[in-house]
Amino acid sequence: MKKSITIALAGNPNAGKTTIFNNITGARQHVGNYPGVTVERKEGFKEYKDYEFKVVDLPGTYSLTAYSQEEVIARNFLIDDKPDVVIDIIDTSNLERNLYLGVQLIEMGVPLLFAFNMSDVAAAKGYEFDLRKLSSLLGVPIVSTTGHKNKGTMELLDAAIAVHEKQKKADPLIIRYGSKINEALEELSEAIYANQKVSCEQARWIALKMLEADEDVLERYLKENIHNTFNTIKEHLEPRLEELLPTAIASHRYGMISGACTQAVRSTIERRHSVSDVIDMVATNRFLGIPIFLGLMYLVFWLTFTVGAPLMDWMDMGFGWLGDTVSGWWAPGSESALRSLMVDGIIGGVGGVLIFLPNILLLFLAIAILEDSGYMARAAFIMDRLMHKIGLHGKSFIPMLIGFGCSVPAIMATRTLDNRRDRLVTMMVVPLMSCGARLPIYALIIPAFFPQAWHAPMLWIIYVIGILLAIISAKLLRSTILKGKSVPFLMELPPYRMPTIKGIFTHMWQRGWLYLKKAGTIILGFAILMWIITTYPQKAVFDRDYDAEIAQIEQTTTLTQEQIDDQIGKIENQRGAEALSYTVAGRIGHFLEPVIKPMGFDWRIGTAMIGAFAAKELFVAQLGIVYSVGEADEESESLRDKLREHYTPLIGFAIMLFSLISMPCMATVAVTKRESNSWKWALFQVAGLTIMAWIVTTIVYQVGSLF
Ligand code: GDP
Ligand code: MG
Repeated sequence: MKKSITIALAGNPNAGKTTIFNNITGARQHVGNYPGVTVERKEGFKEYKDYEFKVVDLPGTYSLTAYSQEEVIARNFLIDDKPDVVIDIIDTSNLERNLYLGVQLIEMGVPLLFAFNMSDVAAAKGYEFDLRKLSSLLGVPIVSTTGHKNKGTMELLDAAIAVHEKQKKADPLIIRYGSKINEALEELSEAIYANQKVSCEQARWIALKMLEADEDVLERYLKENIHNTFNTIKEHLEPRLEELLPTAIASHRYGMISGACTQAVRSTIERRHSVSDVIDMVATNRFLGIPIFLGLMYLVFWLTFTVGAPLMDWMDMGFGWLGDTVSGWWAPGSESALRSLMVDGIIGGVGGVLIFLPNILLLFLAIAILEDSGYMARAAFIMDRLMHKIGLHGKSFIPMLIGFGCSVPAIMATRTLDNRRDRLVTMMVVPLMSCGARLPIYALIIPAFFPQAWHAPMLWIIYVIGILLAIISAKLLRSTILKGKSVPFLMELPPYRMPTIKGIFTHMWQRGWLYLKKAGTIILGFAILMWIITTYPQKAVFDRDYDAEIAQIEQTTTLTQEQIDDQIGKIENQRGAEALSYTVAGRIGHFLEPVIKPMGFDWRIGTAMIGAFAAKELFVAQLGIVYSVGEADEESESLRDKLREHYTPLIGFAIMLFSLISMPCMATVAVTKRESNSWKWALFQVAGLTIMAWIVTTIVYQVGSLF
């Protein structure tokens, strides 16, 4: 029997945790979310010597105080799951800052091991470490690693075994916080030890966290019986300090770290301007920064949509072929519900979503390159000021930009946001960035109602309305249900690095795989549902005898073949319209009529809107069916004639407005559910956007009608 060891990997963001995690576990890993939150959780396994290792990649944090969701998760994992060994991955090119987390881990008294990663970068910067000395100063074993070259991985496992076997916890390093704080600390930990079921070491840690005003610890441990002691101690202590208590504690830690470093770190070369500094002078320049950023984003779009377009066509053709093949299993002309379900429902529905896969993979490829090279941090830095004005984080800008292409990858791109509130707000407003699938709707409507000179301005107005509404909603959410202090943006920028091919493709594939899995589950379900409601109940007896009409036209000798086909197409569409009107979707359309009337819509538009929920571009096709005009697409003149006959330009505008704002397509809803890890947010998004669409469109229609 192999003995099992659980290893938790902790560390600052970008220190190389994931790289080392991959080095250790190879392919055997599982990616999910932490229960109830959107923070990614990775677990992997590795057999080595007599042991079976279970490795958990904790979220990256700079500290272990409960300031952010990630910190709480990382800390609770350490407290509640008690991993056998904690490996703190340290970016040694930035040693002092990284040790801040290390010191807090030491103070927690967890069985600890340091991986001194990025040793190549540190060496290039001219740093030399006396590892033995540092190790004895800090009381923690240290292994030197170079993550992207897979160096030091086995040594790390050996050291982890040693830490585990000796059961030797790092002697809790006693940091001196100065006599005033120390006294308070001692007094408070005694009170905690006496009144709560915790060990002596734990009591000190809890006391420290309480003094640091750590909400999570206060909530857990500040019970009735020590409430008064705590208040007295704190009130006595605070006026005697020159700075705020948490600041004082932090600066003592930094002092201790910098002391250790002066003893054990030597810099062999004078620090010169590094390559990163030079690039940054241009990339984050006040004037050049934004143009460079926009240029790069344009490249990303180009890659995603232009290079992706032929791939998408191939996928489309592939699914078309698959549909035809499956369709061929039945005798031509036979009416089979199973065939319709397979071809129209499943292959059509899931295929319609899967054809975006190449775009999504390309997009994630581009993002992975920008992230791994260190540029993304700069982009966020550049946009931060602007985004802060609307209550969002600089990093939210990228998902919002991607939203003009497609909301699905945009929502997935919110993964780069560390803070859950920022992430949720961004997810909620991303669908207001008018996506590519809405373009066919505008392309149908605008020329139907507006003169040539108005075409471009109308389109522009629609996009701008979307952006303005996104800004307003973000502000609104940020000041109501998603209120919270916006996390200070750490100004420090990671150095530029040459991304590795393996790293980029792993990143890309992991995200792409999630998308595939989604298409296989949630989307499949939706596709079947949509098929059912647009197919059933089926009308047994039609109002007109369409077959006879078709037969009659076929007999007519005065018409050309083309005219015959055209007429037959029309009749078949009239039959389609009658059938659709009878189905659940059609009935919902009728049923909705009173609700959508204030916006100027009738049941036909309502029914088409239901189709648009499956995919926005289906709106045009469905409208074509209800108006029975043969093959309908956004270029369809006959459909435009019908629209002109039935509606006013104001209603045309209302349709566009409603399509822009109202509930996103089912793929977006599904991905929001996945990424927010809750149906609550997905439903909130659907309801919120739909209600907003109704209100805005109604106001526009009603006010517009006055003129
Ligand atoms: P995480 O945020 O802690 O998970 O960091 P990652 O594992 O994603 O690593 C961030 C970047 O650092 C990636 O581009 C890695 O390829 C790179 N990296 C990891 N370890 C090393 C190392 O030892 N030296 C150098 N030069 N790069 C590394
Ligand atoms: Mg990572």
